[in-house]
Amino acid sequence: MSGVIEVIIDDITQMNVDAIVNAANESLLGGGGVDGAIHSAAGLGLLDECRRLGGCPTGEARLTGGHNLPARFVIHTVGPIWKGGTSGEDDLLASCYRNCMRLAAENGVRSIAFPSVSTGVYRFPVERASKIAVREVRLLLEKYPEIEMVVFVCFGRNVYDAYMEALKA
Ligand code: ADP
Repeated sequence: MSGVIEVIIDDITQMNVDAIVNAANESLLGGGGVDGAIHSAAGLGLLDECRRLGGCPTGEARLTGGHNLPARFVIHTVGPIWKGGTSGEDDLLASCYRNCMRLAAENGVRSIAFPSVSTGVYRFPVERASKIAVREVRLLLEKYPEIEMVVFVCFGRNVYDAYMEALKA
């Protein structure tokens, strides 16, 4: 049997899971939105570790420790900036979920929390992004049965509603 999917409205930095995902930018040196919140909560040790990674291309992911967070790991992924939908944004976003789940499985992660990657400052429409997230995570939970739980952490009601709708399909 494959793992469960949960959707909640919460602050991802407070999540008691093995790994939380950060919607980072290519520099991995912190930014606004969820990235800023994760760095503030994790402390400067996270920034130090990120500096040593030398960035991350869009669609890929990198793993660090969780430092002062309840989570043991942070998986940093760089979502695509929305440019209208014809610049490969869908595939790049799917690739973020695939790379995060692969890194999670390789590192013994059993529970992982995702924010709604790309749907903030990067302006990817949340209805479209949530469908991609749900589709990919469903497939990846079958591929990696050792991952028991994926939580979609929504920062606001509109994001929550989009994920709930995507889960109905
Ligand atoms: P991106 O640059 O990938 O669009 P953002 O951080 O701007 O990343 O937004 C991604 C999503 O994360 C948005 O839905 C935003 O509301 C949400 N978000 C912001 N802060 C938090 C937080 N502390 N916990 C969970 N989600 C958050």
